[in-house]
Amino acid sequence: MRPSVLNRLFSPTTELSGIGPKISKLIENIAGPNILDLMWHLPTGIVDRTYSPLICNAENGKIATVVVQIEKHIAGPKNRRLPYKIICSDDSGTMTLVYFNARRDYLERVFPLGEIRVVSGTLEKYDGKLQISHPDIIGRIDKLDTIKAILPIYPLTRGLSQNVIAKGIKAGLNKIPKLDEWLDHDLIQREKWPSWDEAIKRVHNPKHTDDLNPNSRARQRLAYDQILANQLAITLVRKQLVKRKGKAIVDRKSLYEKIHKNLPFSLTRSQTAAVSDIHRDLTSNNRMHRLLQGDVGSGKTVVAVLGLAPMIEAGMQVAFLAPTEILARQHFTNIKAILVGTDISITIYTGQDKGQDRKVKIQEISSGKGQIIIGTHTIFQEGVTFKNLGMAIIDEQHRFGVHQRLSFVEKGRSVDLLVMTATPIPRTLHLTVYGDMDISQITEKPKGRMPIDTRVMSVDRLDEVFNAIGRTLENGSKIFWICPLIEDSEKIDLAAAKKRFQILQKRFGNSVGLIHGKMNNSDKIKIMDSFTTSITNILVSTTVIEVGIDVPSADIIVIEHAERFGLAQLHQLRGRVGRGKRKSSCLLVYSKPITDNARQRLNIMRETQDGFVIAEEDLRIRGSGDLLGTRQSGLPNFKLVDFSEHKRLLSIAKDDVKLVLNSDPDLKTKRGQNLRTLLYVFEKDLGVNLLKKS
Ligand code: ADP
Ligand code: MG
Repeated sequence: MRPSVLNRLFSPTTELSGIGPKISKLIENIAGPNILDLMWHLPTGIVDRTYSPLICNAENGKIATVVVQIEKHIAGPKNRRLPYKIICSDDSGTMTLVYFNARRDYLERVFPLGEIRVVSGTLEKYDGKLQISHPDIIGRIDKLDTIKAILPIYPLTRGLSQNVIAKGIKAGLNKIPKLDEWLDHDLIQREKWPSWDEAIKRVHNPKHTDDLNPNSRARQRLAYDQILANQLAITLVRKQLVKRKGKAIVDRKSLYEKIHKNLPFSLTRSQTAAVSDIHRDLTSNNRMHRLLQGDVGSGKTVVAVLGLAPMIEAGMQVAFLAPTEILARQHFTNIKAILVGTDISITIYTGQDKGQDRKVKIQEISSGKGQIIIGTHTIFQEGVTFKNLGMAIIDEQHRFGVHQRLSFVEKGRSVDLLVMTATPIPRTLHLTVYGDMDISQITEKPKGRMPIDTRVMSVDRLDEVFNAIGRTLENGSKIFWICPLIEDSEKIDLAAAKKRFQILQKRFGNSVGLIHGKMNNSDKIKIMDSFTTSITNILVSTTVIEVGIDVPSADIIVIEHAERFGLAQLHQLRGRVGRGKRKSSCLLVYSKPITDNARQRLNIMRETQDGFVIAEEDLRIRGSGDLLGTRQSGLPNFKLVDFSEHKRLLSIAKDDVKLVLNSDPDLKTKRGQNLRTLLYVFEKDLGVNLLKKS
């Protein structure tokens, strides 16, 4: 159980004074639901309000905190085009506070005539007179010292102000408990790191821009904590997996050869190598725990099917898991095609199967009639038992968590596990993300693939796009049209896609279809089928055209608001085309304003199609403020870690974990107990649950 001193940190942010349900929702969007999530929301800048001059000495352009007496209110004329002015003074001179579109009653309330007020903002000269327009902070004189300070600047979202978030964080800091140190004493000494609670306090009270540097001692310490917790949890899971013995099967090769001969193409070199890796694992005594990593379209499915052949030949079942219903059906079709001419029986079992169908399928699985079982996570739910499951293959693994991985493995006595992912993860991060799983990589694309012509254009030119699309439709093109998440709100998101759908439909009639996350599965399947084989030629979709979807005839993808996507996701989306015989294109349509980072991302997309290059570039340009990139990349969310700066910490943590678990495998010593607390702090409860009770 989580130590009770941590409970208050895992309470909702509404427990903090000054944060109601509405603000809490906004905070949840950018930081998370709990108080601790808010504590991990680090400042990205500082503002220095310590400059506090007399009016006569005040320097134009500086941020200043001034103490003034309110002399006079001058309301602008009714039409509101001229500003509302408040004249104020100190012993040395007068200045003006300026408000555009002001609410008079509000200003009269906060600036009562004759009273003294502290105002802080940027000094300006207008008509030779000193003024501050829309001061950032207004307070009574007793607040002077709090206002006249160096204050952190936090990333915000619309509706949330610096003052409100700063207040919330201050209230949160008061709840941070002192915890027994979980880090190694010598390491702390050597790195000169502060304690955990001290580090949190420091990162929220930066006094200098150096304090914002990822390599400041406080930020390093917190990053290390997060890396260590992750490394520890992953290693514990891994130990749990290998503890269970594997089984060595005999590979008679005949089924494999039969399938191989049937293929209408020859394998690439790395596909062949990956198949051998899998066969070696299956025929060895160790349990397989392998990751198959290959860019979108690199041909992982066929590797998996050739890989599983010895298992079927040895009389055992193989489960094939997809993250969605649609992908499960697609795998079913493709795998059936790869297996033509063999008598292997394939069962597809998903949430769609109800009543009698469901009974029949469950029977097929438990009797062993179904040799390859394809489905979503439902195949591992209660009520489903396998006759003898020998191997589980999980596609697009980043959609599944470690929890689920463990539950698959628990279904069979010694199930061999192959996970497949298209998310290219930079080499430096393999360990962090996958622990010490064995890795096979498909590094080249199948022969004959043509590069995708990628163009970047402004939304002002959408009309040209419509015209061009009209021409390509006549040549038989199939087009994905992506409308992304705009406001962190599914509703608005969907509205945008529907609107685009209507506009396209007006122009191109019945050949336009719409697919989105709120649709039920059978509708989704219908529209996908119509796009794959029938009259739908333009498919408008919200962000998730499901990862992994394979429509070889699709040759154009249009991505609207491309500037809002992270690189990894753009790459995934683009990978939906370029699989067929025709030359494909990708149109990245952006809307202004566009940040430097976003512009860089789009340029990288135009310049390369290599997923590994893209992953490295992604890491390089992703600033700590770029939440979007992290969330979409399929990487676990390391809020406190800046992978381009903290690489060194990864290898320290690896050694640290090895050392600790060698001498204290169940985390029972004093330090071991403290490390359990660390696991809870980073919500790695699963890791703790795997330990022997103590
Ligand atoms: P992914 O790695 O994204 O899952 P798929 O397994 O869906 O890729 O394969 C994409 C397409 O490439 C499929 O249509 C598949 O038949 C084809 N393919 C796979 N390997 C080869 C190859 N060596 N040569 C030609 N085509 C191939
Ligand atoms: Mg795939």
